[in-house]
Amino acid sequence: MRATRSRTARLDRWRKGADFRQIASASAHANLATFAKAPRCGAARKRDGEPCCNPAMKNGRCGLHGGKTPSGKQWHVVQYPDCSTPQGEAKFNRKLRMQKRYAEKRAAHLAVMTPEQRARHEAWHRTHKPGAGAARSTERARARHNAEIRLLLSGEAPCRPQSPEMIQLLAERAAVTAELERLKAATIEADSDNKGIFA
Ligand SMILES: [Zn+2]
Repeated sequence: MRATRSRTARLDRWRKGADFRQIASASAHANLATFAKAPRCGAARKRDGEPCCNPAMKNGRCGLHGGKTPSGKQWHVVQYPDCSTPQGEAKFNRKLRMQKRYAEKRAAHLAVMTPEQRARHEAWHRTHKPGAGAARSTERARARHNAEIRLLLSGEAPCRPQSPEMIQLLAERAAVTAELERLKAATIEADSDNKGIFA
């Protein structure tokens, strides 16, 4: 049986030498220092809602939180790699397979949706189309106007999303109003009793 050679034994003479080790160690330390100084991603992480803290990319987010998503006209448009090298081609094919898998997953997800979920999903996708932002903001404005007009036509007061403080204040007001009504009723009752006695 042949003994397996260690990883170090497989390295060439230069890489086993003290000079190489010194250069490699200095470069590793420099990389660590750059890593430590890099700006951090501020996205709220799922685990505890604290900032993510991975090193940020150019747009201030890490690769997991939108750092890789192109901005402007390419916003959420799928980016395909250059196929001129074998590596590029492999990457391209991998990406195609991933797209196919994603499409299947999405189809399965859509198939089990209730009509309301489906409507909400479609409304979201109408206002989040990939590409330049102008079309998206126009669509959002149109949807907002439509919603306001529907509300006006239905004759209901406009309902804005309320803050927790507002909801609590409204609840307190309702409680105070109820108490006031109760006290008024009690006073009227007492008055009528008094009349009964002193009349
Ligand atoms: Zn992040």
